[in-house]
Amino acid sequence: MNSHPVGSAVTVRTELIFGQEIRVFDITAARTDAPSMYIQSGLHPNETTGCGVLHSLLARYESESCPVNLRLVPHVNPLGWRTYIENGSGRVSYPNFINWNRIFSGDISALPDRPTIEQGMADLLLRLSSGYDHVMDVHTPECGWPHVYAPGLSGRLNIFDDLPHIIFAEPELFTFADYHVRKSGRPESTTIRRSVTLELPSHRLQSVRDLDYWAQRLHDEIESIRELRVPSSTPPALTGSMIDLNARIDGICYLVAEPGQRCGAGDVIATIVDPQGNRDEIRAAVDVVPLCYRRSAVARAGGWAVRCLSLESRG
Ligand SMILES: [Zn+2]
Repeated sequence: MNSHPVGSAVTVRTELIFGQEIRVFDITAARTDAPSMYIQSGLHPNETTGCGVLHSLLARYESESCPVNLRLVPHVNPLGWRTYIENGSGRVSYPNFINWNRIFSGDISALPDRPTIEQGMADLLLRLSSGYDHVMDVHTPECGWPHVYAPGLSGRLNIFDDLPHIIFAEPELFTFADYHVRKSGRPESTTIRRSVTLELPSHRLQSVRDLDYWAQRLHDEIESIRELRVPSSTPPALTGSMIDLNARIDGICYLVAEPGQRCGAGDVIATIVDPQGNRDEIRAAVDVVPLCYRRSAVARAGGWAVRCLSLESRG
């Protein structure tokens, strides 16, 4: 692929996926023995905050030295981006309707002669992220608050303990982060030490100031990685698993609880009101922190209305 230098330490390269371009930015650390990190965003192209944050981070390292050898891919999914631009949907592939973050199932060297767009995309992104010490996939919830998905407490980020943490026990969903976790457990493992998914806020349109705030947080994490820090032995205050609270009627979902804050078992989290005025109060059976609502505000009977961090396991 074409390669040309930009500034003193950043190299930009263009990869092609089914005729669409992916821009890859490689930033070289001043110290040759620095750790390496891969950060991508935009796998779900409708989740636009991460793209802006990564470009803000890139702009920073164009004028100052980067603490680690860093690969930034702010916009990893040009195929999904096309469908997002054209019809407002970016979460799933077209025409196969597969969630773009459930395609990382397997062996990247065993592609068929004519791979599907999902296989082609998985192959390219796994190759781009292969061999890095740290891997981060940046997303946003449907309409929600920042949180972290980590494979375990020791595999979490160093300086994000103020955010709710979802510890996924069973990494078999074929997400991008899961793939790297499973790979690191194999004998042929490279040196991957951490693979996490960071969910940035999406409850309102983000400002440039927001982007700079999250870029600064990522920089602080990167700095801590250069210093070879590890996560604290005290778990984050809000740690648990994700649970869905479902609606029992079709209607419009109104928030009752403050998102991102702790709620007791039995508290009303949200109210669904249908066009006839019937109401359905959504309560959690355990202590929770509501993290994500429907962007459309419409809830359907049997489907989730609010996604929450369940604090049950903490007792
Ligand atoms: Zn996502």
